Amino acid sequence: MEVRVAASFGFCKGVRQAFALAERSFELGGPVYFLGELVHNHDAMEMFRARGARIVENPEEIPSGAVVVTRSHGIPKDVQEELLRKNATIVDTTCPKVKRVQVLARRLEEEGYRLVVFGKASHPEVQALLSVLKKQAQVVATPEEWQKAFAVDHQGPFAVLAQTTFPSVLLQQFENWVREQGLLGVRIVHTLCDETEKRQRELEQNLEQNPGDVVIVVGGKHSANTRSLFVLAERRGVPVFWVENAAELRSLSLPKRASFFITSGTSTPDWVVQEVVTYLQSL
Ligand code: SF4
Repeated sequence: MEVRVAASFGFCKGVRQAFALAERSFELGGPVYFLGELVHNHDAMEMFRARGARIVENPEEIPSGAVVVTRSHGIPKDVQEELLRKNATIVDTTCPKVKRVQVLARRLEEEGYRLVVFGKASHPEVQALLSVLKKQAQVVATPEEWQKAFAVDHQGPFAVLAQTTFPSVLLQQFENWVREQGLLGVRIVHTLCDETEKRQRELEQNLEQNPGDVVIVVGGKHSANTRSLFVLAERRGVPVFWVENAAELRSLSLPKRASFFITSGTSTPDWVVQEVVTYLQSL
């Protein structure tokens, strides 16, 4: 039996850095609170809980003087201000790629551009991005929404930025539309993170080279980029299993004498992937 593992597996760089900062937060003294789950992975969050951390969704649940670990998506300005009023020690784990988008957005706004953000309005990364701007930016995700945003009565020049995990295929569609319409004064700034795309590419390449592989996708059930990997394999019509960890995989009945390809979401810890590999190799 062969077990292949994607070249990019486990935490992405941004999550790896966030995780390391979170681990060090226990040395700062004071109760440790996580504002939202740092990673979409039950095992990893259980590890922090076991060390005494509390995971809350609302800053109101955090007492004065606490150590607060924020997420790699960034932290909205008003939430940050509320935490500072509570004398919290903020461990800001915002991914540098996400921070870069915030800096770019502010600069473009100062240069006089009207900002259009491609992304999901309710996503924490988009909320944090909007909070650092002086003017209101439009958030769009579908062709109907962007056509409305660029209607003739709207005055440019426009600068277009995207949530780092926005699907590149939709942005490409938008660029084609801008060309077809002959729209002037639209500056598109590349802000996508290629980490999730890279994992999808590696999965596609493996399916081309090893079409008989059974795909095992390892990652949290709330992780959007893990879901994308699962959906991609499913659409290609190959047998695919989505598990959070080796324990879940053990409970499944896998095809006999199969070869496997393992891929994982960007917030899946390396050790969780390793446990899955070890289990499959033991079959
Ligand atoms: S997926 Fe990209 S943007 Fe998101 S945390 Fe990882 S490196 Fe940063």
